[in-house]
Amino acid sequence: MAERSGNDTSTKKNVKKIEGSCFFQDKRKNFKCHQCLTGRKAVVPCLKCKEKVYCTVCIKQWYPNIPIVEIAKQCPFCCGNCNCSICLQSSGLIKTSKRDITDEEKIKHLQHLIESMLPFMKQICIMQKQETEVDANIQGLLPSEVEIQQTLCYADERIYCDHCATSIFDLHRSCPKCSYELCLSCCKEIREGILSIRDDVPYGYRDRGWDYMHGEDPLPESYLQEKVEKQPGPSIQWEANNDGSITCPPKEIGGCGDCRLELKRILPMGWISNLDTKAWEILSNCRIRQWLKTLNGDNTSGEGHIDNGLYSSTSTDNLDEGFRHFQTRWAKGEPVIVKNTLANSSGLSWEPMVMWRALCKRLEMPEVKAIDCLAGCEVEINTRQFFKGYTEGRAYNNLWPEMLKLKDWPPSDKFEDLLPRHCDEFISMLPFQEYCDPRSGILNLAVKLPHCVLKPDLGPKTYIAYGVAEELGRGDSVTKLHCDLSDAVNILTHTSEVALSDEQLAAMEKLKMKHKAQDEKESLERERLKKGFDESEATNWGDNIIYVSSGEFRGASIPEPLTSRKEIGGALWDIFRREDVPKLEAYLREHYTEFRHTYCSPVEKVIHPIHDQSFYLTAEHKRRLKEKYGVEPWTFEQNLGEAVFIPAGCPHQVRNLKSCTKVALDFVSPENIQECLRLTEEFRQLPKNHRAREDKLEIRKMIIYAVERAVKELSELISTPN
Ligand SMILES: [Zn+2]
Ligand SMILES: [Zn+2]
Ligand SMILES: [Zn+2]
Ligand SMILES: [Zn+2]
Ligand SMILES: [Zn+2]
Repeated sequence: MAERSGNDTSTKKNVKKIEGSCFFQDKRKNFKCHQCLTGRKAVVPCLKCKEKVYCTVCIKQWYPNIPIVEIAKQCPFCCGNCNCSICLQSSGLIKTSKRDITDEEKIKHLQHLIESMLPFMKQICIMQKQETEVDANIQGLLPSEVEIQQTLCYADERIYCDHCATSIFDLHRSCPKCSYELCLSCCKEIREGILSIRDDVPYGYRDRGWDYMHGEDPLPESYLQEKVEKQPGPSIQWEANNDGSITCPPKEIGGCGDCRLELKRILPMGWISNLDTKAWEILSNCRIRQWLKTLNGDNTSGEGHIDNGLYSSTSTDNLDEGFRHFQTRWAKGEPVIVKNTLANSSGLSWEPMVMWRALCKRLEMPEVKAIDCLAGCEVEINTRQFFKGYTEGRAYNNLWPEMLKLKDWPPSDKFEDLLPRHCDEFISMLPFQEYCDPRSGILNLAVKLPHCVLKPDLGPKTYIAYGVAEELGRGDSVTKLHCDLSDAVNILTHTSEVALSDEQLAAMEKLKMKHKAQDEKESLERERLKKGFDESEATNWGDNIIYVSSGEFRGASIPEPLTSRKEIGGALWDIFRREDVPKLEAYLREHYTEFRHTYCSPVEKVIHPIHDQSFYLTAEHKRRLKEKYGVEPWTFEQNLGEAVFIPAGCPHQVRNLKSCTKVALDFVSPENIQECLRLTEEFRQLPKNHRAREDKLEIRKMIIYAVERAVKELSELISTPN
């Protein structure tokens, strides 16, 4: 399976042209407002550049928080935060990296990266060696005599295993007849007889109608479209031949069933094992260099020390306190919150209307796609209406708050092209850029792929959604519980608080009672069904089923009382510890029927409690999770300007307490590679039609290219005398 990219560079060229016209403005047009380019009467000239003027109308509309006297002293253009259409389309106006890293720091970081990657390089080498040995055995040759044919694979192509959908980066097996491709993990599992067939599973929720979602009766059964439950077909066995060779699988699971799969390679012969050797060599060179420096009494770099002949590279004395603190927490798999990142920025406006104006220049977008959080469905809405609701709120006819989330706006893979100035601003705000800078982070494995290789889409992405402080219990503006393959950083760049009227609050109380009654009614029905089933055929289940008496059952959505606090944050986060994942999963498997998902339908089936992304734990569920399993997430409110670092593999969920604009970016740190690989393996085992399945990160490919690049950079650094 292959997919190709089309790299469109034409948009970038346009930006350059516009940039030029912004810098070299004709002096005679000075009376024209820089922002709106019209010659209005009331203008404020800038005392600094003595060139640009901004009209008072624009100042009021687009710079409402900057006093006019400040603008007269130094105009937005001089401050670097002008949000006129031309400036918003320019990139490179501000410096995005916060500090220059010294060569000694670079050496230390690269050493750390290579050292962290060695165990994974070793795993990759062993797997490749084992498969080559199997092939030697089949052909009656020595492993060194095995000739492996190269597959034609373009750099801008991705090859996936046709069975488990993980990315193939080098050795694999391929059918000469139908070009079915199989990864080495699958080959191994077939030989060990533990390969799972991963049949498609039926999904889908019934739409029981608008009334049902608001706590009333469902539409009569006859209106409901029955789900098509696919009966699992006869189980297909896929076994290896006696000599270890593998035949292309039968048509039912995607192959031709005819030919033996041949061992193929993508990279040059021995490329990875050579790289492994080079990595070891460069590390020992670094150690010798450090040792010589210590002998010469030069210990200014402070990196590592010789102790009983053992080298330790853990010392980070010369790095600032904050970075060290971050690294310690990060290595333990704990999230990190950094306050006030907006203070580091040039003050560009994150007002959604400013971003929208910038986008309108490039895309015609009268309508946007949004997710209605109650039904969990996509809706189309007029863009202006959406943003009106962002600041003023929206409600259904019965006054229940209508929570909308913009879907993929601006289109995520084009953020950098469409909003170049905002992209620069976001990167400049990022703390710990060594880890997360999407262009040059020295410890970010995701930026080490060669230019020609197709890169994963890691953002930045914008998330614009409504929110309300009170937990609704149903239709809340949430990102449901999920777990990302990579690390991520998320900055809250803009909020808008929407006040609910007394009339609305009263209507909401009534509706909540209805929701509760519906929850209880359905819970009783489920219990009756379960009991009937139990008596008829499942009497031997014994103590495995825990029954909840109706009096005890409190419904899935008891909202917590809104405490009377002065200042609330923008978004409520719950991040779970990796070590709590088994208990969290057990809780969800036990209680899934108490949750609602699409069309507010109760969840009927769990494939994977976290990767399904169909649960949000309300305050009541969190309380019970703590009571029954002793599991408690890190819970905190993200305030405006705060950056949240989420380590790969920590399940998390978010609820918006205000209308929020967040910008998030994925990255891959050396500390969490183990977790990325564990998750990749978990995703591999999901059914073939599961939404989370595809290996978009291609983590193993990332590892080998990161080591290659780091070895190259490190040898350049230590060979230059300083
Ligand atoms: Zn103007
Ligand atoms: Zn100026
Ligand atoms: Zn401007
Ligand atoms: Zn596979
Ligand atoms: Zn075939």
